Amino acid sequence: MSSAEERREALKDVLREARGCVRCPQLAQTRTTVVFGSGNADADLMFVGEAPGRNEDERGLPFVGQAGQLLDRLLGEIGLARADVFINNVLCCRPPGNRDPQPIEIEHCQDYLFRKIELIRPSMIVTLGNFATKLLRRDTTGVMRLHGRPEVRVVGTRVVRLYPVFHPAAALYTPANVEVLRADFARIPELLALGAPEQPPGRAPEVEVPEPEPGELVVEAVAPEPEPEPAAAQLGLF
Ligand code: URA
Repeated sequence: MSSAEERREALKDVLREARGCVRCPQLAQTRTTVVFGSGNADADLMFVGEAPGRNEDERGLPFVGQAGQLLDRLLGEIGLARADVFINNVLCCRPPGNRDPQPIEIEHCQDYLFRKIELIRPSMIVTLGNFATKLLRRDTTGVMRLHGRPEVRVVGTRVVRLYPVFHPAAALYTPANVEVLRADFARIPELLALGAPEQPPGRAPEVEVPEPEPGELVVEAVAPEPEPEPAAAQLGLF
């Protein structure tokens, strides 16, 4: 799978599958929409946040609340707009009451995120906050220690420049952290200008999807009901 058009079609298939997903029974019941992601399906730069909140759940778009306004502002300050990047989250569904994503929910949803990364092929991924940073680094080190430090890492089947920064929502609580976030964002253009890290020759590494624990309930995604296409347009995806 290589042409941009083929990858875009495959991404639409992932979107359709995600929209019918019931892997997390509670989230499937309480969500209004599946927030798959939005922006440029061929972007060099991807942002990964935590999970949709109330506004995102209602509108079907990531980062459209207060944290999203800060993200838009910071993007603008480095000469980028949403249409230039792809924005998504560790979870596609809103956890009720905006509680933290549960480990089993992250495990269920990571397959969508890794497929998006494989199909969009960003050269750089900015992880917003702890959940995305820990998942994509496969490590428990938090964003307080890691923010502003770019690394070249294997993420799923791709080698990317990974760049952890504070989550905009967390930064909003502490004005000093907005300045830290701004300073970390200011380095994004120079990191992007380094270009894509070299991909390994031959077969790409496999996405690591852990086996379920014995007795753990794994609910497979069901084929979604045929739905009208506008989700793609609504998501601003294609
Ligand atoms: N916080 C997130 O992590 N993601 C969103 O989409 C909105 C707020």
